[in-house]
Amino acid sequence: MQTTPPGRALVLFSGGQDSTTCLAWALERFSRVETVGFNYGQRHAIEMTVRLETLRELRARFPNWRARLGDDHVVNLAVLGQISDTALTRDVAITYEKSGLPNTFVPGRNLLFLTFAATIAYRRGLDVLVGGMCETDFSGYPDCRDATMKAMQSALSLGLDRELNIETPLMWIDKADTWALAHLLGGEALTRLIIEHTHTCYNGVRDTVHVWGYGCGECPACSLRKAGFEKWAMR
Ligand code: ZN
Repeated sequence: MQTTPPGRALVLFSGGQDSTTCLAWALERFSRVETVGFNYGQRHAIEMTVRLETLRELRARFPNWRARLGDDHVVNLAVLGQISDTALTRDVAITYEKSGLPNTFVPGRNLLFLTFAATIAYRRGLDVLVGGMCETDFSGYPDCRDATMKAMQSALSLGLDRELNIETPLMWIDKADTWALAHLLGGEALTRLIIEHTHTCYNGVRDTVHVWGYGCGECPACSLRKAGFEKWAMR
């Protein structure tokens, strides 16, 4: 008989492929898992709807995980749209800046998310934060780097005077391996759920379902997801 693993986690859950895989990863490992989403005036409100559908489908299709999956929290961070000026929060074309970063970069976004998540974790008695940050496929976002995560883990643990771990299961794997990880965790049922329900597209396109899921197929997020799926499917 399987024993219940220790630890209680809060997963930063946006309803995309990466955070859904992270949620499955956490549900396999921890006795209690809660989720948090941030509403920050994203270009497309679809994310906030999709994440609820994905949670509902996870509960319906994975009875073993249902008992561990606890409350979902939504934090209104509309202020992020006011203080930043990027293609994620305004309706402008996605391009690359002189710095090499795409204009979808919201400076410090993950730092803010982790800080708010830590506050919720403290209140809820959760000791692990799980996020889909990744250095391998990342678009050059400095707040996705492993060193940034390690520094945040120290800062938050010190500032809360309570040990808080940040787990990033996707940090060193690419998108093909992310598909493979989802398959390992939840088999065909989980990869189907990711294809049918999650949302990654920066352009908010959800009119056609491709073999790799919904999306425009052109934006940086779709390109990564599509290429990763094709590479994984070739194996
Ligand atoms: Zn897209």
